[in-house]
Amino acid sequence: MTNRKNAFLFYKKDEELEEKIHKVREIGRKYDYQLVENPKDANIIASFGGDGTFLQSVRKTGFREDALYVGVNDGRLGFYTDFNTNDLEKIELALQSDQTEVLQYPTLEVSVDGTESFQCLNELSVRSQIIKTFAIDVYIDGLYFETFRGDGMVVSTPTGSTAYNRSLSGAIVDPKLPSMQLTEIASINNNQYRTLGAPLILNHDRELTLKIVQDGNDHPIIGADNEALSIRHSHEIKVKVSNKKIKTLRMKDNLFLHKVRRSFL
Ligand code: NAP
Ligand code: MN
Repeated sequence: MTNRKNAFLFYKKDEELEEKIHKVREIGRKYDYQLVENPKDANIIASFGGDGTFLQSVRKTGFREDALYVGVNDGRLGFYTDFNTNDLEKIELALQSDQTEVLQYPTLEVSVDGTESFQCLNELSVRSQIIKTFAIDVYIDGLYFETFRGDGMVVSTPTGSTAYNRSLSGAIVDPKLPSMQLTEIASINNNQYRTLGAPLILNHDRELTLKIVQDGNDHPIIGADNEALSIRHSHEIKVKVSNKKIKTLRMKDNLFLHKVRRSFL
């Protein structure tokens, strides 16, 4: 980490947190880290908060491929947050030692109605915004697959597989497997409507197309991680595994399987 010394700190203003961050800043100074005001000048972007804050720090700084993202939690450790403001010793160790490792997490690349694409680190979600169901024609590599009717669908990354995807009984996917997973939110299955009814994991070279059936309820909410796109009349959403990844720092003794066990078992 020797040539990565410009750090931007991302957090919501909070007095108690501010005090803890102050201590982190002092440790940083000791090891010659510079704080920068503009994330564009940073090669380290550190978020302070939960996984939700980490997702925001990545989105608000534009999914920088040339920056290292570091998640620092204020309470319990999360999936993206390997460090803790209550364990300053570990932060100090990370700044000076070889006990850390850079990980690369796959992201999704999404384009709605042919407009400029955007990335997701957890998932893309498409949900009805009214009490009625809506329908989606699902295509994989241009091949018609199924017509879904229900509350919505979610396409998640491997690291997003422990989030929304998991609540939908999706599989937990090893982040070393560049892939995307399609899950259903309350699909109707009867003689008229039929969907797979199981999570579907697709290889990184597939392209998923979700066509919103234009039958009156065709303004679903489209969510990129924890942010909703402004409501619009959408027809076609294309999703693929992006060739851009997010780099993040973790302690060598905190593997994905440790996190899964710590959170769920
Ligand atoms: P939130 O509604 O406050 O958080 C939902 C929970 O998901 C929080 O406990 C959050 O952890 C956790 N989380 C976020 N990313 C995770 C991951 N990759 N693996 C395991 N847990 C994760 O919203 P938020 O904090 O801004 O997080 C946004 C995410 O919430 C979305 O990307 C989506 O995955 C998830 N979500 C889930 C449901 C559901 O399960 N029914 C519905 C909507 C959204 P922290 O407390 O550390 O932030
Ligand atoms: Mn239309």
